[in-house]
Amino acid sequence: MPFPIILSAPSGGGKTTIAHALLRQRSDLGYSISCTTRPARPNEVDGKDYFFLTADEFDGRQAAGEFAEWAHVHGRRYGTLRGEVDRLLASGRHVLMDIDVQGAAQFAASFPESVLIFLVPPSAEVLRQRLSGRMTESAEALRCRLQTSRDELRAVSAYQYVVVNDRLDEAVRQVSAIIDAEALRRVRQPDISSRVDALVAELDRILVEV
Ligand code: ADP
Ligand code: 5GP
Repeated sequence: MPFPIILSAPSGGGKTTIAHALLRQRSDLGYSISCTTRPARPNEVDGKDYFFLTADEFDGRQAAGEFAEWAHVHGRRYGTLRGEVDRLLASGRHVLMDIDVQGAAQFAASFPESVLIFLVPPSAEVLRQRLSGRMTESAEALRCRLQTSRDELRAVSAYQYVVVNDRLDEAVRQVSAIIDAEALRRVRQPDISSRVDALVAELDRILVEV
């Protein structure tokens, strides 16, 4: 049974990079494209990285109840479309989501089968270097994001899994292992009772013979 997988991390923690690597490696995953009122970065494509909305468009979708969760992050609004999540789950794929700590709590309340994974950087200095090395933020925005990171790190206790994003390939391997293990949880295997029933019936037949 497919399930939502929430990746959260301080800004620059590697959510986008890890999500892209997982999507390249695994065909059983789909990515939930969020809505945001922040402007697109030069390398970002509308409808692929985000649905970039005006404040009015965001209001409209919010009023129509289209968001499974939404939050103010770094002075902008971000939200997950319920329709996007339902569409991906209906296609049989697990839904990979890159959402902030406020959104993760809201979303998990409506989708309790969600798997919550928090990515932490190996050090604060590495986080600063990665965020400034990405060259997407002004000095002021960089400071705002690092400030938010301080508070977001405290939310780690709401997450089931924590992965240190030190070496990228190792972090991707660990997130992938979490997904594999979660898929094997008994409650996520609806046909397990009939499978066990069939095994018991077969054993009964064998026991008559031996
Ligand atoms: P987020 O989506 O969490 O804000 P990104 O995925 O954009 O973070 O990562 C921030 C920057 O750090 C990017 O330039 C990315 O290439 C780099 N990065 C991410 N993970 C690693 C890693 N394990 N090692 C080195 N650089 C990384
Ligand atoms: P960025 O602007 O760097 O792409 O994302 C900034 C923050 O917004 C990150 O913490 C990211 O996880 C969060 N975010 C992205 N999409 C969503 C969403 O749909 N809902 C919520 N609540 N946060 C989101």
